[in-house]
Parts: sequence; C-alpha cells; structure tokens
Amino acid sequence: MCIQCEYREPTLRRRNFLNLSALGLGAVTAGLASNVFAAGGPPPKPENVLSPAAALERLVQGNNRYVKGTVARNGFGTSQAALAQGQNPYACILGCADSRVSPELLFDENQGDLFVTRVAGNFVTHEILASLEYGTTVLNASIVMVLGHANCGAVSAAIKAVENEEDLPGHIQTLASALSSAVTTAKNNNPKDLADYVTRQNVRNNVQLLRQATPLLSKRVRDRQLRVVGGLYDINTGRVELIET
Ligand SMILES: [Zn+2]
Repeated sequence: MCIQCEYREPTLRRRNFLNLSALGLGAVTAGLASNVFAAGGPPPKPENVLSPAAALERLVQGNNRYVKGTVARNGFGTSQAALAQGQNPYACILGCADSRVSPELLFDENQGDLFVTRVAGNFVTHEILASLEYGTTVLNASIVMVLGHANCGAVSAAIKAVENEEDLPGHIQTLASALSSAVTTAKNNNPKDLADYVTRQNVRNNVQLLRQATPLLSKRVRDRQLRVVGGLYDINTGRVELIET
C-alpha cells in the first residue's frame, strides 16, 4: 500500500510505522547522526544552523532575489573544502521533477544548502519520507517545504485519470493515484480553476502527512525543532507563494 493510501487509513499507517520502530530505526538514526560531524568540529556551513523561522525567511529572501534577477549565488570553489567534510543543509524541499522547477535556482542557493527530494507531483512516498527524515533528523535541517507549481503535468494527468475513469499508460498511473485524493477533494468543492485547486490541495495534503509522520518528523515538529510548510511556484513570475505556514 502506498503511503498516500495509508494516510487515508490511519490504522494501517500506524501499524506500518510501528514496524519501522521495531526495526530499530531510532538506533540507526542515532548512529548516523554521530557520523555527521565525527570530528566534533563546527558544521561545514555554520551559516546554515538556523531556527525554523530563520530558515523560512532565508528561503523567502532567496526567492525574492531570483524574481528580481539579483541572485547572489557563489561558485563551487567557495565551499568546496568544507563540503568535502560533510553537509548541514538548512532546508529540505519536496518538489516536482518538472525541469522548470529547480529549487537551488529559484531559492538562489548553493551546494550544501538544500536537501532536495523530487518526484513528479511532489508527494510523499516511503523513500521520500525516509530521505526527509535523514535530512532533518540526521543533518538537522529545520524546515521542510512541500513545493507544488502551476502547470504541473502530474496534476493534469491525475485529473484526466479521474475524469476519464481510465488508467494512464505504463507506471504513470502511480503518480495519478497518489494525487487522486486531492482531485476528489477539489471536485467536491467545484472550483473555478480545478487544476489550481488540485495543486494547492495536493501540497496541503502532503504538508499534513509530513507533520503527522511518526516517529521522527512529528516529534521534531512538536518539539519546535522543525517546521513543515507548503509553497506554490508560479512558472510565469518565478515567485513562490507560501500557502501553508
Ligand atoms: Zn509538476
């Protein structure tokens, strides 16, 4: 069962995560964490040690520079030596695979700043969740942004699959199925712009899923070590609109 379905069936979801706990995930992450800065020295990028609020503000300011065309991105050489020793990105991004939505570019960041997971339709899978757990619990990123975007092909495909009541070819239906809950919610609300509604609803669904994901992310959110937010990238303007904070 995919994690999106488990999200809609909490009993199964709980059972699955209990199984993860039984595998000793806590001990594993503790071991990984001890390896990140094994030398006990400062993190590779001290400027990336940020509170969740400061991390969100940095994303906002980076996108502002991108929109204005005043990017401040440095070359690889400025951080090469430090990053060879490790990484401490300040933010995790769950974005779409769309070639027009590149997080490092639209937030005007460099290597080592963003821990990026991407899948067409920007939704949580088991592997995405595990990656985000690593980026936050082990690497200490203090914010996760689920980043949807306008004109998303996965959203269009999901709407088409529901409206035509047919499966898409190959494995593409997997993407449509993951977004079907957002399509159903949107159709129940009869919006003027169905695709826009589905895109926003899909971001909100996955923000909620991550905030509630046990055992790791939900605890960090509860302890105020982590904030999970939702953004929407406008391909026409380059602006990221915050739709869940
Ligand atoms: Zn997309």
